[in-house]
Amino acid sequence: MKTQRLAKVRFVALLGLAGIAGLAFPGMAFPAENDASPTITVQIYNYSLASPTVLVGAEREAGRILRMAGLRAVWLECPVGPFTPGPQGHCEKAPEATDLRLRVLGAPLTNKFQDTVFGFAVHPVLASVYYEYAARRAKSDDADFEAPIILGCAIAHELGHLLLGTNSHSDAGIMQPRWESNQFRQLMIGNLVFTTEQSKLMREQARTRIVSFFWPSGLWAEDPVIIGATQQQEQFLTCVLHISDDDDRLTVVILEHQKFLKIREAFHAHKTKLAFSSLLARRIYLSARMFRDYEMLLRCITHELGHFATQSVYEGNAEIAADRFRKIARQRCPSEVQ
Ligand SMILES: [Zn+2]
Repeated sequence: MKTQRLAKVRFVALLGLAGIAGLAFPGMAFPAENDASPTITVQIYNYSLASPTVLVGAEREAGRILRMAGLRAVWLECPVGPFTPGPQGHCEKAPEATDLRLRVLGAPLTNKFQDTVFGFAVHPVLASVYYEYAARRAKSDDADFEAPIILGCAIAHELGHLLLGTNSHSDAGIMQPRWESNQFRQLMIGNLVFTTEQSKLMREQARTRIVSFFWPSGLWAEDPVIIGATQQQEQFLTCVLHISDDDDRLTVVILEHQKFLKIREAFHAHKTKLAFSSLLARRIYLSARMFRDYEMLLRCITHELGHFATQSVYEGNAEIAADRFRKIARQRCPSEVQ
């Protein structure tokens, strides 16, 4: 408790300092107070070990940076996990055009995306940041103070990608692709912010953007949609699914075993005990029992991916592709899933 309170006090002190220091940088954006700032709503899903205190601190820092760019951010913390009871309220409602989604993940698994060091963005609505990056970069004797600031800057950067488009790195400010000691020094005094040009673009984007695809299934663009998984299961499946490098998105649905059997019957797919796929719907169904045995899980999920990779319903064809996926998965993906 003591350390938390201390962190809070120091955080406020830093914001004061940042406000003053900011005046020394006329090249950066400082819109007038009475500017009608467009509002963006960010739904946050925390899959990491980041504590609520760290998360709130990160939101404040990211919010401050966005405010300097002339944007008002509203943060909605959403429940995660397959068995979240009760209604999810604001997280379930139909999205507005200016809604963005942010995942706070543990650590990176694959190197497929831009920015895998501190996060990545799937334009135009999904951003992810890695809590462990912030935790690692924070000085150990000052982690309570530094981790939320670093995480907040990473959040602002990735949200920047969502509003600025994919090729939006710059040589100055917070959209620099690499952060080294110089950027960290600026970041700690609150000066790693959006440039004037970027700020203007972001405000325009926030005012005019329209999310034109179907929500939420269109949300994940190239990421697989995984329904009903624990965090560990999702990490494992995401990793394995990225190996096949399929261009179209797959959906994986994990079902309690009795439910799985019912659906399997409806699909007239009786060949596999704990998994089956619909090539047409691009959907893989797994029984929750699958996760009791790692070897079986690996064998089955890669087999199903083999069907998609070969676009074939024949087991032999699927197995040829599956064999290759298995080898890569053993090298790259978590070797333990529960
Ligand atoms: Zn970036």
